[in-house]
Amino acid sequence: MSDALQAPRGTFDVLPEQSALRLTVEVSARKILEAAGYRRIETPAFEDTDVFRRTVGESTDIVQKEMYTLIDGGGRSLTLRPEVTAPIVRAYAEHGMHKLAQPVKLWYLSSCFRYERAQAGRYRQFWQIGAEAIGSEDPAVDAESILLLAAILEELGVRGVRLRLASLGTPASRARYRELLQAHLRAHEDRLAHDVRERIDLNPLRAFDSDHAGTREVMQTAPLLLDHLDAADVEHFATVRALLDASELGYEIDPTLVRGLDYYTRTVFEFTSEALGAQSGVGGGGRYDGLAEQLGAHATPGMGWAAGIERILLAAEERPVPEPVCDLFVAVGGDGAPERTAAFLLAAQARRAGVPAQVELAGRSLKGQFKQAARLRARYVAIVGADGIELKDMENGEQSAVPSPSAVVATVLRGRFET
Ligand code: ATP
Ligand code: MG
Repeated sequence: MSDALQAPRGTFDVLPEQSALRLTVEVSARKILEAAGYRRIETPAFEDTDVFRRTVGESTDIVQKEMYTLIDGGGRSLTLRPEVTAPIVRAYAEHGMHKLAQPVKLWYLSSCFRYERAQAGRYRQFWQIGAEAIGSEDPAVDAESILLLAAILEELGVRGVRLRLASLGTPASRARYRELLQAHLRAHEDRLAHDVRERIDLNPLRAFDSDHAGTREVMQTAPLLLDHLDAADVEHFATVRALLDASELGYEIDPTLVRGLDYYTRTVFEFTSEALGAQSGVGGGGRYDGLAEQLGAHATPGMGWAAGIERILLAAEERPVPEPVCDLFVAVGGDGAPERTAAFLLAAQARRAGVPAQVELAGRSLKGQFKQAARLRARYVAIVGADGIELKDMENGEQSAVPSPSAVVATVLRGRFET
């Protein structure tokens, strides 16, 4: 098939049935987040490339190889958002949201773009639902944020959910730890995978992510960041954990938890699902107290997460696709323009009154129109003919003349209440 007849590799069309399922995710997430005071935000699909380069991190996979970057007609470097946290912190600074009551709680449902190897659960354009609470360091923000994602995954029936949790500390303790880790990696350099060796200087933490057998062995004796946190970070993390414990949300401490973004500080977490294959991450996030400064804004603490809509749906229990409702199908019962116009107007009038109604749009015979009404599972069919309107109740098969379009609408409305 010609390329012009296919969606680009790693992308997909959201067809009507999928769209209906995705709406259920949106509705649940919105209900849970807005009940906690989060309000929706939308940022542009692309940003100045610096928004991501300064925050996500030069050494990360995202910046090194996954960004869709283009130069626009004005010579500016722009990047399709690979994630939404940095754009939201940019918006927070741009719109002076520090003047509002803190923390400012925002949620989003946005498409993201990453040039990745396309496979099940990993796409080049995908959708994230996310929540950010900006402007408070309180550990209760962290615990609440994690709880909200847990509630969404539970409500949507995501199977086999596990929560892993860690703390990355502050940049200072991380820098001290980084040197310890680099020393450990250098001492065992000959046993490491090539790409891990290459990144000892740039991103030694990523060594914990490697699947390479030799590297994994070396990492078993590596020093752990959790053992090298500042007292304040230890206490912050303990409070987050105490709040999660009090909420009876199960989790495992994973001292090797590495997120693919450099901006995290203190709390980091990830929800995985056993129902997913290799791409087991459903959603994750953490605290990013240094991000605003990295963008050149005033230092502002923040905490948030993102979860992939496609992975949520892959990991969720099958649920019935909500069917579109058609209460009234208006059939054209004659060949003349007056009947066609009257039918057209009846459907419009019914919709204005709140009745889901469709009119014949393809010139079918009366028999064909009844077939179409059956396909739509229409509750009533109105037949608009030269001599007036007949209304057929498709449930009991009764058909009778109705004096006016308003009477049709009234009957259908009454029928809706009766069922
Ligand atoms: P992974 O470990 O799968 O690469 P990640 O660490 O890159 O995930 P984040 O950047 O934290 O993921 O994004 C949050 C969520 O967005 C993920 O948990 C996942 O559900 C989803 N996600 C990330 N990348 C993709 C992708 N390429 N296709 C579909 N969903 C994705
Ligand atoms: Mg990734």
